[in-house]
Amino acid sequence: MDHFNYQNGHLCAEDVRLSRIAAEVGTPVYVYSTATLTRHFGLFQQALEWTPHLVCYAVKANSNLAILKLMGDLGAGMDVVSGGEYARAKAAGVPGERIVFSGVGKTIAEMRMALEGGIRQFNVESEAELQALSQLADSMGAVAPIAIRVNPDVDAKTHEKIATGKSENKFGIPIAKAREVYAEAARLPGLQVVGVDMHIGSQLTDLDPYRQAYAKMADLVRALRGDGHTITRLDMGGGLGIPYRRDNNAPPLPIEYGQVIRDAVGDLGCEIEIEPGRNIVGNAGILLASVIYLKEGEGRDFLILDAAMNDLLRPAMYGAHHDIVPVNEPTLGAEVSAMDVVGPVCETGDTFQKGTQLPAMMAGDLVAFRSAGAYGAAMASEYNTRPLVPEVLVSGDQFAVIRARPSIEEILARDTIPEWL
Ligand SMILES: *Cc1c(COP(=O)(O)O)cnc(C)c1O
Repeated sequence: MDHFNYQNGHLCAEDVRLSRIAAEVGTPVYVYSTATLTRHFGLFQQALEWTPHLVCYAVKANSNLAILKLMGDLGAGMDVVSGGEYARAKAAGVPGERIVFSGVGKTIAEMRMALEGGIRQFNVESEAELQALSQLADSMGAVAPIAIRVNPDVDAKTHEKIATGKSENKFGIPIAKAREVYAEAARLPGLQVVGVDMHIGSQLTDLDPYRQAYAKMADLVRALRGDGHTITRLDMGGGLGIPYRRDNNAPPLPIEYGQVIRDAVGDLGCEIEIEPGRNIVGNAGILLASVIYLKEGEGRDFLILDAAMNDLLRPAMYGAHHDIVPVNEPTLGAEVSAMDVVGPVCETGDTFQKGTQLPAMMAGDLVAFRSAGAYGAAMASEYNTRPLVPEVLVSGDQFAVIRARPSIEEILARDTIPEWL
């Protein structure tokens, strides 16, 4: 459920007409709903009501400071994957003891930053990282709380580019090696083992891979406890999928996911951490764009928008689908025709959809890409020197620009021509 609905023929974000935002901020622009974000976060809180837990919002899905502040104020922790994301979480007011640090390539500088600023735990992904973190923490006279990310070798049944839990993926330590690596961690100075971590992929639409992975996690926790380790926290990762098509079978709900966790590890007496990103923010955002031209091609028509692959990469990158809807509600029975919806970037890959059934459109008409809140603005670039797409947050009948569109001058000012040229 989201809060982007037609009211009196106008598509709105909560109680704000999208046409009003387009007029005041321009297009393309991302628009997010506070009510949807709040609701989705609440669903995960509810799903884990049965246990001490921390919902660590995965910052990479949408890292705007206003979104992080909203999440943090609701009580969320944060899952960060870089020093930059760590700094964002801190700048949004989230205390270090609610931040977990994931990722296969943490640098010394990034680890230092987190140790100095405070950190709940590092999710360590390799023996080399374990050694580096131990040395660093020891040299700082600090103790780094760690969980080790274990790769359970299960098929998450999602797009290959976002599957992370198979043995051929770069993530985590093979589960068969986990006890050995935990023993090493226990011997190293500067580290405190607190838990076990897994994250098997993104946009999972089936609970079975979770069941398989979490069963392996439960077995591992028992074995580790037998080996003498104190395991008090389990980080179950993120990845629960969202419906990208309105007509589709909906993926499982957070409450069902919470039950899977309870069935698998509920008897271990651990604090549970989860790291949802997409599921919280995906359907809480749309990308608003304008029609620039309608172009008649040979055997097909092109709807050319002012949004492009640099603003919303998912279709070009993953072949992803986003429902595209007119902002002016089509009248009942309005005639529709098939169009290829494309952006202005000079690549054929800059195609959002082919053969989309849309009512008659004119230059200046507005369309909205649904379910664009996650991995939308966060993955945007300035390819083709198109200014980084701005973002707007709506709450009730008010809205605010939470990231302004840079001017062309600002973009050019970032480059330097050396004196000797
Ligand atoms: C990307 C990522 C997540 C979030 O995934 P979603 O599919 O957005 O829920 C959580 N944990 C880790 C370690 C990640 O890399």
